Amino acid sequence: MNKIAFMTIDVESLYDSELLKDRMNYDPKYSYECYLKDYIDLLDKYNIKGTLFLLESSIKESKDIINYAIEHGHEIALHGKNHTSPFEQSDEEFEKTIKESKEKIEKEFNVEIKGYRAPCFGIDENKLNIIKKLGFKYDSSNLDFHLAKKSGNVNLDTYNKDYMYVASKDGFYEFSLAKVKAYSGHMPVSGGGYIRLVPWFVMKYYIKKYFKKADSYIFYVHPFEIGKGKIPNIKGLNWKERLYLRIGRKQYLRKIEYIIKLLKKKGFEFKAMGEYGN
Ligand SMILES: [Zn+2]
Repeated sequence: MNKIAFMTIDVESLYDSELLKDRMNYDPKYSYECYLKDYIDLLDKYNIKGTLFLLESSIKESKDIINYAIEHGHEIALHGKNHTSPFEQSDEEFEKTIKESKEKIEKEFNVEIKGYRAPCFGIDENKLNIIKKLGFKYDSSNLDFHLAKKSGNVNLDTYNKDYMYVASKDGFYEFSLAKVKAYSGHMPVSGGGYIRLVPWFVMKYYIKKYFKKADSYIFYVHPFEIGKGKIPNIKGLNWKERLYLRIGRKQYLRKIEYIIKLLKKKGFEFKAMGEYGN
């Protein structure tokens, strides 16, 4: 069986993040478009088709770069209307906003949206059923990590395990984010803040450990994490929060390239999530 990898990005702004959304308003000075382009260009360099999870609220700011990604063959999927966690919405509200955002993005970019990833990985069975009902073919919100306090998880007991981190049921797919057994429980090795914040020699150790056994890998990142530009000084943040936003950004693209090379060396095949199962 082939080994399989998916490179994804959650297209959201700095001011969409949990930490800043009540403290910062839109400011074009801190636009992330250039960082998103760096990521797309890196995937293009290795002839990889990635998946971009978009917020409806980011269409305005990122139209050009999203069109650039589409022209280069990358897939568009949905991350939500804005960055509100599904756990803060009633099921009715969730269904309405997801349906509207899906239609708006499909119309705007003339694409078909097949996949969804919840903000803050906030998914549960009810919300997942709504995603299925609305015609999505896959979800990639299953993180199930004890330190990610706002995340939920999906019960995959009745699913077929196609790969370690890809499960299927009645033509619907769940792409879960990988973690590996570590000294203090589990270490997520799928990207995001973990690859940026954990010292690289430690993370490299766990990534290598993961790839010794893994047959599947899902990577995710946010544009601001790979940016070299300045993070604004925002009032009301403590030193830990400031550090969280600033640390490890300059080196991130090089880390992604390291992971891509490792995946290639290990014989992984890259796919956009929407191509899976077709
Ligand atoms: Zn997000």
